[in-house]
Amino acid sequence: MKTIKTEIVVLGAGPGGYTAAFYAADKGKKVIVVEQEKRLGGVCLNRGCIPSKAYLHAAKLITEAEESGFRGIHFAKPRIELDKMRAWKESILDRLAGGITGLAARRNVEVMHGRGYFEDSSTLRVESPAGQQFVTFEQAIIAVGSKAAMPRAFDLGNPRVMTSTEALEIEEIPKDLLVVGGGYIGMELGTVYATLGSSVVVVEALDAILTGADADLSRPVARRAEKMFREIRVKTKVVKMSTAGRQINVNLEVDGQKKEELYDRVLVSVGRVPNCADLGLDNTRVKQDEKGFITVDEHQRTDDPNIFAIGDVAGGVLLAHKAAKEARVAVEVITGEMSAFEDIIIPAVVFTDPELAWCGITEAEARQKGVNVEVAKFPWTASGRALSFDRTDGLTKLIIEPETERILGVGIVGAGAGELIGEGVVAIEMGATAKDLAESVHPHPTLSETLSECAEAFYGYATHTYSKKRAPADSAQ
Ligand code: FAD
Repeated sequence: MKTIKTEIVVLGAGPGGYTAAFYAADKGKKVIVVEQEKRLGGVCLNRGCIPSKAYLHAAKLITEAEESGFRGIHFAKPRIELDKMRAWKESILDRLAGGITGLAARRNVEVMHGRGYFEDSSTLRVESPAGQQFVTFEQAIIAVGSKAAMPRAFDLGNPRVMTSTEALEIEEIPKDLLVVGGGYIGMELGTVYATLGSSVVVVEALDAILTGADADLSRPVARRAEKMFREIRVKTKVVKMSTAGRQINVNLEVDGQKKEELYDRVLVSVGRVPNCADLGLDNTRVKQDEKGFITVDEHQRTDDPNIFAIGDVAGGVLLAHKAAKEARVAVEVITGEMSAFEDIIIPAVVFTDPELAWCGITEAEARQKGVNVEVAKFPWTASGRALSFDRTDGLTKLIIEPETERILGVGIVGAGAGELIGEGVVAIEMGATAKDLAESVHPHPTLSETLSECAEAFYGYATHTYSKKRAPADSAQ
């Protein structure tokens, strides 16, 4: 049996794991990354961020073509070749994963394919079809990610009940699709299927979809989705499912009333659970919380001094860029730098149509926590750029600290909001004031102007919208 010694072993090669491995190697460490799958990149690359965005791009093409008639531009009904579309999606994933593999090689990061299991706090056993290997390490970074939750009552062993993983394979375009869960994954994949031709019903147990965002921002998404989908039902619970021939029989509860409906397929998108089973964590001092996520401090340290955890498996917001940031923190702590995951702005983007993005504090959160804020809004009906492509269903919003005029939060709904939110992140991280944003010249005609005009609206002098002049901060009582 072969034993290999390394300084750092990274378990899992998703956006958290490969970022950690590359950064540690860039800092001169000897690194081995262990990944059980053939293709590197984790959920994000293989069955998350990237494939979903590829399909959403295809959906956007279809929608824009469909909606161009009033401009005097007419397209025929699209002909969808699912095999070709899947192959196109796979080609994107192959290219990206190939890039990661190449970058690992250039940095001398050793990639070991196999399943990792902790024997103790300094030994990882790696199982692969080729046999068993042992890796002894000084530090380990656990980045094994998460998987879709599948409540037992829905787990029929019937491929017509899908998680996001199967849904991204688009085996067929079901006539009737039920999406359970109105979070971002359900709404994004619902958009893809509805555009391809499915009649989509989304059910959500809470009283709204996309609950993390302010209601005035999620409203335009809900409004358009209501047109695109057959129905969005809130305060609705799926109690049970059963196979009914080639369909799925779904028992629902709406306002205490029971209902039964048939669907051709069901997408269950009700959350994610950490991949902690069968990792050998009991052989270490690593602890987990009540939901199974590994508990870490602000330095990404677990309760085992040799072991760090990052990304989805460490809980918090389950997003790729949060995993990558935690990777940097863990590596910096290992290499003796002062680093902590504290007061870091993690933007959220929902790639629906229109897109929805926010960062920093939301208005609802500020009200709930009793934080005194002022809110400035700029509707996209006043944006020349938005008008030029007929998408005025947008809103840019700043959450501002009245005394200092510092920007505490930014929220945007509208086409391309996901690209625009980066400016909000920089503004908050740099401690920018609304004045900084108002005085920075933004190019015309762009949607980025909605940010500077929103800041101008805060002072009451936005050119393309009228808002009441604000009393200077020192005269406000
Ligand atoms: P993962 O990406 O889950 O990677 C973990 C890796 O560890 C996997 O490759 C796995 O095979 C490997 N592994 C697990 N156990 C072992 C073991 N014992 N031994 C060896 N290897 C192991 N996030 C965004 O930021 N933007 C988006 O637009 C977005 N869209 C998404 C869409 C969908 C449909 C889904 C499901 C997720 C989406 N996410 C998005 C979330 C994002 O994919 C995750 O937050 C991200 O992948 C987490 O990265 P990670 O490195 O923690 O883990």
